[in-house]
Amino acid sequence: MIEIERTPSKESVCECCGGTTTRLTRFVSDDGDAIGVYYAAFSDNHPDSNVVVLLSLGNGITTPVPKTESRSHF
Ligand SMILES: [Zn+2]
Repeated sequence: MIEIERTPSKESVCECCGGTTTRLTRFVSDDGDAIGVYYAAFSDNHPDSNVVVLLSLGNGITTPVPKTESRSHF
């Protein structure tokens, strides 16, 4: 079963606008084996309201997966 670790988010003051930036770093596991990690950040004070997400799955965590199919970054 795939699970996402629920660690607390971290908040800080945004250097560019003084708003609050919230960051999440969470690990993804499948039956206890780490298979990925994702990072997300967003600010409550930016007009574009974008969320920045970095997702890394497979190779480099613990599960050997062909490199060309193992990672997705966006
Ligand atoms: Zn800002």
